[in-house]
Amino acid sequence: MTIDRVGGDAVDVYLDNNATTRVAPEALEAMLPYLRNQYGNASSAHSRGREAKKALDLSRETIARVLGASQAECICFTGSGTEAINLAIKGAVSARRGKGNHIVTSAVEHPAVLNTCKSIRSLGYEVTYVKPDSTGRVAAGSVAEALRADTILVSIMHANNETGTINPLREIGTITKERNVLFHADAVQSFCKLPVTVDDLHVDLLSISAHKVHGPKGVGALYIREGVTIHPLIHGGRHEGNLRAGTENVAGIAGMGEAVRLNWPALERNSRRMMALRGRLEHGLRERVTGVTLNGHPDERLPNTVNLSFENIEAQACILELDRRGVAVSSGSACTSGSGKPSHVLLAMGIPCEACRGSLRFSLGTLTTDEEIDYVLEIVPDVVSKLREASAPAPA
Ligand SMILES: *Cc1c(COP(=O)(O)O)cnc(C)c1O
Repeated sequence: MTIDRVGGDAVDVYLDNNATTRVAPEALEAMLPYLRNQYGNASSAHSRGREAKKALDLSRETIARVLGASQAECICFTGSGTEAINLAIKGAVSARRGKGNHIVTSAVEHPAVLNTCKSIRSLGYEVTYVKPDSTGRVAAGSVAEALRADTILVSIMHANNETGTINPLREIGTITKERNVLFHADAVQSFCKLPVTVDDLHVDLLSISAHKVHGPKGVGALYIREGVTIHPLIHGGRHEGNLRAGTENVAGIAGMGEAVRLNWPALERNSRRMMALRGRLEHGLRERVTGVTLNGHPDERLPNTVNLSFENIEAQACILELDRRGVAVSSGSACTSGSGKPSHVLLAMGIPCEACRGSLRFSLGTLTTDEEIDYVLEIVPDVVSKLREASAPAPA
């Protein structure tokens, strides 16, 4: 990383780690053999096949261990975090046909959850969307109130991708356990940023994704508690414990395992570092720029995320100008940005439309440096004031 404000190398400050992260060199190295000589099919009985199978087993054991799963077989590899979420929700309700047709989720979920719920509504399932408070937190009490006798599944995200707000999963999980309702958590954003262990959180199903934790894109995993039955979505061979047919992405899964092995022991250290840098960014911007408000919970928040609304600013224009100056940030989620629609997350928190349009998400990473934060603190005030001047009505 070089920051050269005079000329020469382009500035490259990546503060969009909630959208995706750089593949760790170690994860890439762990993948390469399976893309070169070790091309075996993990289902083959010969040594090439067993080599591939070993790579899958190793990643499965690593992920099971860090999540505190009772056995490696609780981990099912998928083609993305989104697929893990689809498998959890559709697979769970399909296996509970006849026991009820009501699902509880929240209004601030990722589109992977919201649109999966939308698709099963057309099959006759009813969905209750719990509203968050003004910090984006989904209270356990609100989830409890939404439960009915025919509720078969609760799906609540651990940490929000747009605001970083952390939900009280342990409290929610205590309630679902008491009521004997299955509990799925989208932990894609919290995994490797917060301690995520399935018994502490009382979850039955939990989704994670490799590319948010310095692994490759196109690999995810679903944790399924021992004894919990769900139905597969993809039918074919007997892969992944009969839950996800299709020859496994051996290289991708090896890369995911290595990324987790790297990140997990460094979790606390990385969290502290990112939180310190984020604090400097957040306070620095609020000091240097007028009309800035925080979207999200002040404390119960991912260590790397800060979402700020800038008065009288169009986030899209700001993003493009920051990009021109070598800084990558986002407005809300990558999945909805570009659609021109205000964020469903911020709207659900009761933030006025106008403030939603001027919201920027800075998501730091384990590689973010002090110099990068200095640079951002220097250019954002300038970009904001130029955009405000340009949009101000001309003097009469
Ligand atoms: C990125 C993300 C997903 C989707 O994961 P993919 O692997 O990109 O499909 C789901 N939920 C949250 C909260 C996310 O941030």
